[in-house]
Amino acid sequence: MKTGSWTVVLLAVTTVALCSPLINELEPGQEWPKRGSVKQPQDESEDEETSPEKISPSEPESEIPGEIKEEISLLAREAENVKVDYSGAQLWKVSTEKTGVRATLGRLRRRNLISTWAGNQTYMDILIKSNAVQNVTRIMKRENITYDIIIEDLQKRINEENPPLDENEIELQDRRGHRMTWKQYHRLEDIHGFMDYLAKTYPKIVSVNTIGKSYEGRDLKVLRISDGKPTNKAVFIDGGFHAREWISPATVTYIINQIAENFDEESDDIKNIDWYMLPVVNPDGYEYTHLTDRLWRKNRRPSISRQCIGADLNRNFGYRWGGRGSSSNPCSDIYRGSRAFSEPESRAVSDFIKTSTANFTAYLSYHSYGQYLLYPWGYDTAVPPDHNDLDFVGKRIAAAIETTGGSKYTVGCSSRVLYPASGGSDDWAKGQGIKYAYTIELSDTGRYGFILPTSYIEPVGRESLAGIRVLASELNKP
Ligand SMILES: [Zn+2]
Repeated sequence: MKTGSWTVVLLAVTTVALCSPLINELEPGQEWPKRGSVKQPQDESEDEETSPEKISPSEPESEIPGEIKEEISLLAREAENVKVDYSGAQLWKVSTEKTGVRATLGRLRRRNLISTWAGNQTYMDILIKSNAVQNVTRIMKRENITYDIIIEDLQKRINEENPPLDENEIELQDRRGHRMTWKQYHRLEDIHGFMDYLAKTYPKIVSVNTIGKSYEGRDLKVLRISDGKPTNKAVFIDGGFHAREWISPATVTYIINQIAENFDEESDDIKNIDWYMLPVVNPDGYEYTHLTDRLWRKNRRPSISRQCIGADLNRNFGYRWGGRGSSSNPCSDIYRGSRAFSEPESRAVSDFIKTSTANFTAYLSYHSYGQYLLYPWGYDTAVPPDHNDLDFVGKRIAAAIETTGGSKYTVGCSSRVLYPASGGSDDWAKGQGIKYAYTIELSDTGRYGFILPTSYIEPVGRESLAGIRVLASELNKP
């Protein structure tokens, strides 16, 4: 197993710090111990990266989600606080293998007729705005571009997506002491209430800490499950980076629930790990998708110029920040922020991981959609020296997922399998010396996209948990 030399140094420091007996003496609810921040070489250069809004010469317009929002309509919507209506908007799957297709889609995006949902080297899922369907249809016919209409009316799907719970479920909720169900996509309050409930119910193994606040002042809550053994390795799992990817917080809370509620019966592999889980990295955006715009992606901080709202938190991390696959345009859906860690949410995650005494050996970030298990690097098509290890464990996780639930995941280096995207949290985690850093794009492969029916929550949770168990067994191998 090859690792970069300074990575080895960092792990050694982490291991020494972990041997502190503090971790056993920790009372539930108390602050988790912190270690002195280990300054990384790349952090220093990234911190100096303050030149605002550098225009990237290689902005890959045709390959990544890069919708330019209409500034005026957005501000008007803000003022009126009206729910965004997607009636008549459609989702198309467009084959991009023919030359010129990506360029055409780029032009349509710049004219604000379409936005990108997902895609890889061979196809793109694009949202056609309702008032543009006729126009875009004509252009596609003229240019002989083939596509399938996946969703005829997006608003109809949105209306059907998250039906209210039936009375039996509501009664169960009252008896359980928390409101989470995995039969519905829940608001932030339910998710946080559930985490607090677990800490109160299982104080010996579960604790919850607020590691920071979002721009609008919401808590960033991390739940830890640990039996306190000083030899434990640690895994950090997060979700809800991108507001509209609702299956992600639902999956992370599913994993939390299974491990916390059944900890005594769990395997030694699970018990020998300290689990740190942050289900909603972007709580402002998440609430905004419930209340105003179901398809919002970024956080909710206005840009410095106040021209547009939100940065893409998964382009804001300080490892090779500002490179390919991120935008300097505050109105873009992949706006990287004014500098590395300019956003309170990404900064809180990085500060927490850097100063924690936990021996983090894996970092998983759940996103949707597409069914990919991706490892660094994202910033460029290079791979880390130990990419064979990442690929091996990734494929084992994918195999467990498929055996359990039948979903097929593509495993690979993210910049190669999808497209380069710099400033991602997985690259940063890898740069911090966390060996197994993955971004997982959950279900589905595009039939529903972000508007995944609630009947998927439990199956996706179940197969994801199978993947987590395999990861745990791999981490516990000597
Ligand atoms: Zn995402």
